Amino acid sequence: MPVAGKGKRRPRQTVAAGMPDAAAVAPALLAWYARARRDLPWRRSQDPYRVWVSEIMLQQTQVERVREFFTRFIDRFPTVAALAAAGEHDVLRLWEGLGYYRRARQLHVAAQRIVAERGGAFPRSAAELRTLPGIGRYTAGAIASIAFDLAEPIVEANSRRVIARLAGHAARLDGPGGDEPIWEIATALVPGRHPGRFNQALMDLGALVCTPERPLCGACPLAACCVAKRTGRVAEIPAKAARRAVEEIRETAVVVRRAARVLVVQRGPGEWWEGLWDFPRVATSARGARRAIERSDLLGGLGCGPTERLGTITHTVTHHRITLDVVACAAARAGRAAQGRRWVTAAALGSLAMTAPGRRIAKLLG
Ligand code: SF4
Repeated sequence: MPVAGKGKRRPRQTVAAGMPDAAAVAPALLAWYARARRDLPWRRSQDPYRVWVSEIMLQQTQVERVREFFTRFIDRFPTVAALAAAGEHDVLRLWEGLGYYRRARQLHVAAQRIVAERGGAFPRSAAELRTLPGIGRYTAGAIASIAFDLAEPIVEANSRRVIARLAGHAARLDGPGGDEPIWEIATALVPGRHPGRFNQALMDLGALVCTPERPLCGACPLAACCVAKRTGRVAEIPAKAARRAVEEIRETAVVVRRAARVLVVQRGPGEWWEGLWDFPRVATSARGARRAIERSDLLGGLGCGPTERLGTITHTVTHHRITLDVVACAAARAGRAAQGRRWVTAAALGSLAMTAPGRRIAKLLG
């Protein structure tokens, strides 16, 4: 892919049939954006660090939820140097509640690389940005266009839907390569002037007007050049993705008490919530929680007295629905916590970076 320069237009590429008229789309969309854009905290500057943090948070998280986390994160780590200098635990603690912690870890590592290898200066092209951990094609395009005014395309959930409808592209978009025609059209549409505003306008149009259900075509600035509208196929584009079956997981979480402290364990490499703290868990057994705990190596030889039921919580991770039966017991034997285990007071739980279910269990303890 050629690297676009500031203010330069890419040569027009060959694109799918039904390609909307780029010369008509950009002015209409930018005029609409000027009056209808969402006021979002990360849009108040073109600082690449802020654009980057917001784009990483927005992956897999709703805009409204990102608002509060973004402001808190930027207050604590206002620059890439401040983020690079932070401890991983502090970054994860601040990320708690956003989920998908790998994003936070990669953000942190990328910040350290930007500082160590580039003196804190951001790479200024999409290709260079993509060499950093956690920055893929979409994020690189977003940073390059919004922060550096480069004519780079973006395709995410909202712009994907808008472009598919504009072009009347009815093929399935899930599966390998399914998005390629959309990237091709996005590349041809992105203008040389105001590419960042154009990309943000596409996302806003998808969020506010060209919504998944019942889009407001009557209020759409692009209605005159929309193939799906003209051909009466708005409801069927984009084609519905195949739904993954929900996988049920049932586990027992154990609050092991010793005097005023409880035992917490750190999730290991490759596990969900890697590096975060949680209560020990074991697969729920038909023979009862106590037998399951005793038969496992869960407590590392501490043993467990009679169990007391504290409640049940459910939590969803991707297509897994986890049901956690929460029990408490007293450690049958004294013992020092091993590597990756800690005895902490209820008050100290507040400063640990915990898994979402772990935090909910902590609240059950009062
Ligand atoms: S006319 Fe309707 S379907 Fe087409 S882009 Fe606008 S809102 Fe979406």
